[in-house]
Amino acid sequence: MNFAGKVVLITGASSGIGAAAALHFAKLGASLSLSGRKLENLNKVAEECGSAGQKPIVVVGDVTNEKDNERILGETISKFGKLDVLVNNAGILESGTIENTSMEQFDRVMNTNIRSIYHLTMLAVPHLIKTKGAIVNVSSVNGIRSFPGVLAYNISKASVDQFTRCVALELAAKGVRCNAVNPGVTVTNLHKRGGMDEETYKKFLEHSKTTHALGRPGTVDELANAITFLASDMASFITGASLPVDG
Ligand code: NDP
Repeated sequence: MNFAGKVVLITGASSGIGAAAALHFAKLGASLSLSGRKLENLNKVAEECGSAGQKPIVVVGDVTNEKDNERILGETISKFGKLDVLVNNAGILESGTIENTSMEQFDRVMNTNIRSIYHLTMLAVPHLIKTKGAIVNVSSVNGIRSFPGVLAYNISKASVDQFTRCVALELAAKGVRCNAVNPGVTVTNLHKRGGMDEETYKKFLEHSKTTHALGRPGTVDELANAITFLASDMASFITGASLPVDG
């Protein structure tokens, strides 16, 4: 795989899977635009990428805000003049069932996990058509199967998978591929940021050894491998796929 001369925009690049993907793309020669809300974290990831390859640009923004998305894409295009790969990775997890998920919570999860992807992709498509580029959406195994206690999250990720298939069909004739990766439990801060306390998280990780056939949760590097693969020419005959990376 080689991304020399390719411009890659990653959302949620300030931590976890997005940060790891940034480092992998940097090592493979990509010119990177990294986005997220926390400037300090983004700068740290950009420094690491700079040591491995070219120093990325950093664009702070909230993907639920349309003006921010216009700026994220606008600054990427004004710096590099084109876009080859869009990685829609930013996401949040919140707990709740049909009996206790408020509309506010539902909207927050849907706005972050799918509405933002719709909007940023819509803005990026004219640029991706020019480069015959690729989109990689970070979904979840929760997009393929239902899991208890995270209703809005399940729905948002199933929407990401359907969005992926639809956009793949719509853009195939224009040379743009669109795929999703569907992580199983991966060691990041996602669950704790979603409200899981340290003790429960430890138990959750322990339990994940029994729910994944390979007997362990995934690593961010294993996810980054799948993301770079689907974005690369190695995946030139793959579009509309949802790739489980779930052991
Ligand atoms: P992290 O919490 O480490 O990363 C989430 C990233 O999303 C952060 O960079 C965060 O940026 C960004 N983000 C969240 N909300 C917004 C927003 N409104 N605007 C801009 N950026 C935002 O978790 P992961 O790395 O685990 O999550 C990455 C993706 O992987 C998510 O889509 C998640 O659903 C998916 N996933 C993760 C799994 C896991 O077990 N970890 C399993 C299945 C799927 P900042 O911190 O700067 O706000």
